[in-house]
Amino acid sequence: MGFLGAVSSYFHKKGFENLSSDERIGLIDKGAMRILRAFHEDGFEAFIVGGCVRDLMMKLEPHDWDITTSALPDETIRVAESRGWKAIGGEGRRFGTVIIVIDGMSYEVTTFRSETYGQDAHRPSEVHFASDLKEDLMRRDFTVNAMAVDADGVIYDYFDGVSDLDRKRLRTVGESSKRFSEDALRLFRACRFLGQLDFMADRSLIDGMPSAFERVKGLSLERVESEIDRLIVTPHAARGFDLLVRTGLNECFCHATEYGKETEIAILPELSHLVGLPQQKEFHKFDGWYHTLAVLDASKPLLINRWAALLHDVGKGMPGVRGIHKGRLTDYGHDKKGAEMTRALLKHWKRPKAFVNRVTWLVENHMRFHTIANDPKSHPDKWIRQIAREKAFPTSADVSEAMLQMTDLSIADIIGCGNPDADTRGHQEIGEYMSRLALEIPVSTKELHYDKRVPLLLGEKTPEGMKNLLIRVQSGSLENEPAAIYDAAVRYMRRRSHE
Ligand code: ATP
Ligand code: MG
Repeated sequence: MGFLGAVSSYFHKKGFENLSSDERIGLIDKGAMRILRAFHEDGFEAFIVGGCVRDLMMKLEPHDWDITTSALPDETIRVAESRGWKAIGGEGRRFGTVIIVIDGMSYEVTTFRSETYGQDAHRPSEVHFASDLKEDLMRRDFTVNAMAVDADGVIYDYFDGVSDLDRKRLRTVGESSKRFSEDALRLFRACRFLGQLDFMADRSLIDGMPSAFERVKGLSLERVESEIDRLIVTPHAARGFDLLVRTGLNECFCHATEYGKETEIAILPELSHLVGLPQQKEFHKFDGWYHTLAVLDASKPLLINRWAALLHDVGKGMPGVRGIHKGRLTDYGHDKKGAEMTRALLKHWKRPKAFVNRVTWLVENHMRFHTIANDPKSHPDKWIRQIAREKAFPTSADVSEAMLQMTDLSIADIIGCGNPDADTRGHQEIGEYMSRLALEIPVSTKELHYDKRVPLLLGEKTPEGMKNLLIRVQSGSLENEPAAIYDAAVRYMRRRSHE
C-alpha cells in the first residue's frame, strides 16, 4: 500500500493530532525517523518541521522532510558521518543547514535558528543559532508552517497551527505587518499557500499586508515570478490571485537588473480593472474578475493553460473595447486588445519568446475558437490550414498542442460563466479533431514527406519549388506523401520550363 493509502485508512475517522503516538510514528518517513533517533542517541533534540508536518496533518503526502535540531552544523555532520550517511555542508552551512543523504533521499537538517532583518527585502541581515525549538518556530512565516513533531510522535504547536488548519485559515506567526515587512516575499508566499492549501486568509493577515508593500521593490523579479508561477498551477489558484489583486499587491513594483542597470517592473497591474467590471447578464453570472478566477480554477493546472486563463479577458473593459450596443454591454475586439496587453506584460516579465507567443496566441484566438465550435456550419479545417500557412508555430506538433490548450481554455471559459454543468462536449470534440488534423498539415518544408529525388530534380529552383509544394499540401490539393510530391515536382518543373 502506498503512503496515501496508508494515510487515508489511518485517517478514516481521526486527524493526525488524534492518532496514537505509534500511529503517528508509522506515518513519518523512515529515513527522517532514523535521523531523529540518531540525534537523540547523541544527546541532541531533533524534530520534523514545517511543510511536512502541515501536510501530514492535512492527510497529504509530504514531498520533502525538513528537520530542525539543537545540534550545530559541525555536530550534525558528525552525527551523520558516524552512521555512514553522506552529509553535505556547502553554502547553507553558514545558516545552519546541512543536507543528509540516506539511501539516495536528501533531508535538509537545520540548526534551531532565529533571524534579524535589516535593509534587504527578503534575506535576514543576521542569523543566530537558537537554543530551543520555540524560538526556531517563531521565525517561520505562517502558523500552519510552524509546527514540529518529535521521534515519539509528539506534536509541538505553540501558535495554534492545528486550529488554523481546522478552520482552513492562513495566519502569520506574530504580528502580520511586522512579519511581512521583515521579508516581503512572504506576501507572495501567502498568496501561494491559499492556492495550494485551499485556505482563506485571516483578517489579521490581510490587514498587515499593505504596510509591507513599500518593501516589494526590493524583491527581484526572479523571486516574485517564481512564487507567482508556483501559485498559478495550484489547485485553488483563484484564492491566491484574489488576495494578490484585492489587496493591491499586483500593483506593486519589484526590480530586475538588466545590463547592470536596475529597472522597476510592475507586477500585474493589468488585472485590476477587471474587479467589479460589469458583464452582460444573459451570458455571465460574474463580473470580469470573478469570471477570470473561475476560468483559472477550471483550466488544467499547467503553466501555459493557466497563464492564458488568467489573461484571456484582460482586454475587456478597456477604452476602445467596452461599448454599449442596443442596450447591451459589449467588448468587441477584447481578444485582440487582450493579446496586445498579454504580449507586452509577458515581455516585460522577460518570459521566453516561445512562452510569450503561445500564451498570446491563445488569448488572441479564444473567441475564434468559440465561434467555430458553436457553429455547425463552420470550417475547422480551413482554420487549421490557415494557421499552418501563417507560420505562427515552428512545427505542426506545436499547432496540435496549442489546439489542446485552446480546447482547455475555451471549456474553462464556458464553465467560468457560472454554469458548472454546461455541456462542453462539442468544444472538446472539435478541439481534439483540430489537434489531430494539425499533425497532418506541415508548417514548413522540413515537414514535407519527400525523398531525395525531389531536390535533385528541382536543382537551383529548390527553395521556390519546395515552397510551392508546401502551399499545395497545406491547402489540401496535394497529399503529403513521397510519390505524390515527386509527381507534383515533375509537373512544377515542366510548367517552369514552358514559362
Ligand atoms: P512546500 O510544500 O511548498 O514546500 P513548505 O512549507 O515546505 O511548503 P518551504 O518554502 O519549503 O515551504 O519552506 C519550508 C519551511 O521553512 C516552511 O514551512 C516555513 O516554516 C519556513 N519558511 C520558508 N520560507 C520562509 C520565509 N520566507 N519566512 C519564514 N519562514 C519560511
Ligand atoms: Mg518544502
